[in-house]
Amino acid sequence: MYSGETIAAIATPPGLGGIAILRVSGPESAMIAKVLFSRPLQTSHLLTYGYIVDQGERLDEAMAVYMRAPRSYTREDVVEFHCHGGDMVARRVLEAILALGARPAMPGEFTKRAFENGRIDLAQAEAAMMLIGAQGEAAARAALSQMRGAVSRKIRAAQEEIIEMLSTIAACTDFPDEIEEAPTARKLSDQARKLSETLISACDARRGHILENGLSVVIAGKPNVGKSSLLNALLCEERAIVTAQPGTTRDTVHGSMLLSGIRVNLTDTAGLREAEEHAERIGIDRAKAAIETADLLLLMFDASSPLSAEDQSLLDETAGRDRIIILNKADLPVTLTLPYDVLLSAKTLDGLDALRSLIASRAAATQAGDALLTQARHVDTALRAASLLAAMASSLEEGVPIDFASIDAREALAILSEITGESAEESVIDAVFQNFCVGK
Ligand code: GDP
Repeated sequence: MYSGETIAAIATPPGLGGIAILRVSGPESAMIAKVLFSRPLQTSHLLTYGYIVDQGERLDEAMAVYMRAPRSYTREDVVEFHCHGGDMVARRVLEAILALGARPAMPGEFTKRAFENGRIDLAQAEAAMMLIGAQGEAAARAALSQMRGAVSRKIRAAQEEIIEMLSTIAACTDFPDEIEEAPTARKLSDQARKLSETLISACDARRGHILENGLSVVIAGKPNVGKSSLLNALLCEERAIVTAQPGTTRDTVHGSMLLSGIRVNLTDTAGLREAEEHAERIGIDRAKAAIETADLLLLMFDASSPLSAEDQSLLDETAGRDRIIILNKADLPVTLTLPYDVLLSAKTLDGLDALRSLIASRAAATQAGDALLTQARHVDTALRAASLLAAMASSLEEGVPIDFASIDAREALAILSEITGESAEESVIDAVFQNFCVGK
């Protein structure tokens, strides 16, 4: 087993709640339960009712469960106490556990033990964290599939293919008289290039970024076209100040909602125009920065007035971006002629549902396709391996001796195992677990 130490932590978040769960893992877990719990926990995985008693004092009426190694989250002996919620009781129980020789768990240490004891690999550990932090169903689904090993299987399949290539190379160098080098080199270079392409197409960092942080949607347009009204309508609340005075939204205003299971972060920006005032200019600079980094732009135009120079420059500057063109104020006589996606009245809310479904379908489109590697660390690593494989294919095509190719292949193999953690450096592993919460 990974460690002789027994660790303990409150696994539920701080604050008021129905129950608080304390988690203990390590060789002393059973002893700790025996001392602190009023009833014996003989049967593994059976929730038992009783009292937590510390040196004669009843700390709480609680439930407790013993999960005998290796059938536990960490593969060690684990005990959990389900106490009353609130911080007081849980803290006192934790102190009693620590007094019996356990030490406080570091962030992510339970999951780290599950990894070090071989129950899960590094990608699966990261998925556990992703699941906890998931902000929408899509992110939760992706995390769950990674936790079940989808990423790890993809990586292992690639590794197996590289091992096969290495054995072809070995056979070719060991039996030069029996195996012809030129056709073998051709076959290997095809195989390496194909694998490199497979890895590249398995990567989608943008998708992962959106899953993790939400889709950034920015509402842009000149002052008074109805941007704040739209933000409020989409969020169904008075989040931004709506006034008839142009230039009132000086800063960016945010709100967030779920569409197609994806977190959508809306930003309303200061109206774009030539500003004289300092504060408004700052707002406009922020608006421009928000427009630069947005995943999706909602460009708003006033349907009741002709296209202005500001409107035209907004259209020009965002050409080629993922954008939805909205003609607002459709309740007034429409005089603007401009190809649009949605005709809207932020006042009567006509067209709002159409806009909402259009945003939803654009959000869903960012998650289309079957790329499996979406976490930045995985994508970076897989792309490094892919470029080595591509280099290997090129050198084989250029007629480099076949055994030289094995250097690239071996390195690609090692790089891929950083994803599952087989050969990851301690610093990589520590960096992964640092982002975890205590008690997980
Ligand atoms: P922003 O400066 O682009 O954020 O625009 P606001 O949302 O503050 O709206 C500016 C003015 O236009 C306000 O008086 C709104 O009531 C009005 N307005 C917004 N949307 C509509 C609409 O669809 N129809 C009409 N008639 N007026 C609207």
